[in-house]
Amino acid sequence: MPGCPGHYERERTAQALRFPNTLIVIDDIPADVCDICGDTLYTAEVARRLDRVMRERPATNATVPLYRYEEVDRALPAPLDQNTADAADAR
Ligand SMILES: [Zn+2]
Repeated sequence: MPGCPGHYERERTAQALRFPNTLIVIDDIPADVCDICGDTLYTAEVARRLDRVMRERPATNATVPLYRYEEVDRALPAPLDQNTADAADAR
């Protein structure tokens, strides 16, 4: 981002892409990621490939767990006791 003093490091990232009725996740995308603000840059080749994924959704047999934000609390373990929960809220 403009003015950010961070440095870009080559990393492997994941990106979620939304289609009608479907969410797909592309993992292990090579990208240059800022170590301060997290700004992510793709090479032209990577951007082209992701554009193609958006146009021609790839077939896959893989699945990943999906949690909707409004429901994710129910998937989490209950706090050990109320004091623990209060301490977490106070932070
Ligand atoms: Zn930055």
